[in-house]
Amino acid sequence: MTITAPESEARTARTAIVTVDDDPGVSRAVARDLRRHYGEEHRIVRAESGGAALDALKELKLRGDLVAVILADYRMPQMNGIEFLEQAMDIFPAARRVLLTAYADTGAAIDAINLVDLDHYLLKPWDPPEEKLYPVVDALLDTWLADARQPVPETKVVGHRWSARSSEVREFLARNQVPYRWYSADEPEGQRLLSAAGADGLVLPVVITPDGEVLVEPADAELAGRVGLATTPSRDFYDLVVIGAGPAGLGAAVYGASEGLKTVLVERTATGGQAGQSSRIENYLGFPDGVSGAQLTARARRQAIRFGAEVLTARDVVGLEVNGPARSVRFADGSAIDAHTVILATGVSYRQLNAPGVESLTGRGVFYGSTLTEATACAGQEVYIVGGANSAGQAAVYLARHAQSVTLLVRGPSLEKSMSYYLIQQIAGIPAISVRTCTDVVAALGEDHLKGLTLRDSAGGTTQDVEAQYLFVFIGAAPLTDWLDGVVARDARGFVLSGPDLSAEGKPPRGWPLDRAPYHLETSVPGVFVAGDARAESAKRVASAVGEGAMAVMLVHRYLEKT
Ligand SMILES: Cc1cc2nc3c(=O)[nH]c(=O)nc-3n(C[C@H](O)[C@H](O)[C@H](O)COP(=O)(O)OP(=O)(O)OC[C@H]3O[C@@H](n4cnc5c(N)ncnc54)[C@H](O)[C@@H]3O)c2cc1C
Repeated sequence: MTITAPESEARTARTAIVTVDDDPGVSRAVARDLRRHYGEEHRIVRAESGGAALDALKELKLRGDLVAVILADYRMPQMNGIEFLEQAMDIFPAARRVLLTAYADTGAAIDAINLVDLDHYLLKPWDPPEEKLYPVVDALLDTWLADARQPVPETKVVGHRWSARSSEVREFLARNQVPYRWYSADEPEGQRLLSAAGADGLVLPVVITPDGEVLVEPADAELAGRVGLATTPSRDFYDLVVIGAGPAGLGAAVYGASEGLKTVLVERTATGGQAGQSSRIENYLGFPDGVSGAQLTARARRQAIRFGAEVLTARDVVGLEVNGPARSVRFADGSAIDAHTVILATGVSYRQLNAPGVESLTGRGVFYGSTLTEATACAGQEVYIVGGANSAGQAAVYLARHAQSVTLLVRGPSLEKSMSYYLIQQIAGIPAISVRTCTDVVAALGEDHLKGLTLRDSAGGTTQDVEAQYLFVFIGAAPLTDWLDGVVARDARGFVLSGPDLSAEGKPPRGWPLDRAPYHLETSVPGVFVAGDARAESAKRVASAVGEGAMAVMLVHRYLEKT
């Protein structure tokens, strides 16, 4: 890796343009052209192999720098440009991506568009750069800057490792792809920041925004507003309100907005839903090598915004009312927005583990889902995972990269019934993972943080205490739809009924006001649709959720045409 910025520039510039080409002469020439035009405001980083460029990106990430544009040569030995860009996206998902080729290689361009969501494809050599290079990079820098997340160079979070709210804040920022830097309140730099912020450190976390604003133990909505995430609707009437920004909601927002509907997507915590928490989704069509949930989410969110959808974060919907032709969606703070139509895409949430000690240690060693921010803290630790389904299996594979040992605690006698074959095979091939079947967690031990677990062998009835610093819980999920009670028909478990499932013996649901039967994804309220995991009898897969989001929009059009 060669960092070509002069020292004075390196000290001041925070946004980098990264270029990689295995031919040293070409690499220098590209960097020279870039430096000539962008060197004053940006740091130009060049590398001569994909591996060296990835190291450079990681270093920039650790330092809290931002990367706006990455230009990669296609034909490089060991790792070609597309393979490099794919890995680079995991580190800087928002950076714009350009592939350089020596001649028109349409196949490579098509691959790159599909695999790495390529922004541009450039032929070398470009002469003059004023005509062929700078207009392209200028446009990419503009779109990068226009991205709602970019104006926030860095947020600082000072907290404590075992403070539950500190974990939640880190998770919230990470899942919303807000760049931040973490400081432990025990360390000198953390203490320096607290004293500069005038905070006594008794209440944590303390968040310092890039503008220097100090927030003590902020709620999600306050935090979102201060770090550049939209929280307030721009209008009070929409064609379509989509509630929940998992794959179903993001799918609905992309199709709704792209088809000209005034669309707002409302999310309680972070875009991506359950899928956003998946370390690797391997069975989503078009990603033969898998895709991380964060990457899929970042792209989908960007796509929805590009088509004109408004995306509101940290807004909890607590009520739905029918006011004549309008559907009113009420937020937790009492405010409301109206729309012609609504798509419920609220998915499911993790079921809580009921055992003494678990509740008080949640966020202090006990976590629901694979909180990715905790993964690195697991380095060298003994980690336990409860659950026998795919989500638990994926987390085991992911956490085994960091932890000393990972033990999967499974209630049933084997994994075969609950987990996909490919994951069982992967787990069997990782020595750090062991599987304990017929095992229940009956207590979590520890005071300020998790120190151990009491496990019960359900076959023999014996119990055993084990040391444990981390417990990740994946024991199924339930729809949190009580707020729809009395408005929309649900099944006994709270899943929303729709279409044919609503019509007993061919008759429309009770109170149904129209002559026609409910459309396929339409609920018991005309104009209110459901998509994804929240729907009764849904498939509980990313692809089906996205598909239902798209299909619900098609039915929204049909509804709007006929009213
Ligand atoms: C760890 C993990 C790994 C997985 N791996 C795979 C995989 O490899 N392949 C696969 O096909 N599937 C996988 N799944 C399942 C897949 O992620 C889900 O089927 C999919 O995410 C469902 O999408 P959804 O949009 O219906 O709901 P969700 O993803 O659950 O999203 C719902 C969203 O709605 C929000 N919300 C809920 N209530 C409200 C409210 N009242 N107001 C505002 N917002 C609200 C939630 O915060 C959430 O963001 C995995 C799931 C998990 C947990």
